[in-house]
Amino acid sequence: MKRQSHPMFDPSTIPDDLCPIATDFFDMRVGDWRARRPEVKRAKCVKCGVCWAFCPTQTVIEHPHYFEPSLDHCKGCGICAEECPHDAIVMVVEQE
Ligand code: SF4
Ligand code: SF4
Repeated sequence: MKRQSHPMFDPSTIPDDLCPIATDFFDMRVGDWRARRPEVKRAKCVKCGVCWAFCPTQTVIEHPHYFEPSLDHCKGCGICAEECPHDAIVMVVEQE
């Protein structure tokens, strides 16, 4: 196999403010521009944590009997609803 001519990318070389959404999103309320929001059907949730693992903004919170997104930082991408193996999350349109 051909060897890589350059060393692996070193993420420590990225300035902290280069990509604030990916690196420091909790300063922003991305929920303010969300078009749809996830609603958890708590009776269907088996607390597997798949939504927690897949959420790109790490905004899904663990409760004693279910997981649920914090809507301040949920951007409404719908990944949690797509990945939930028990169809416990539905995306609903935000009302003005
Ligand atoms: S993925 Fe679905 S079933 Fe699993 S914790 Fe999240 S909402 Fe509950
Ligand atoms: S809709 Fe997207 S941002 Fe919001 S909780 Fe689900 S995966 Fe996370």
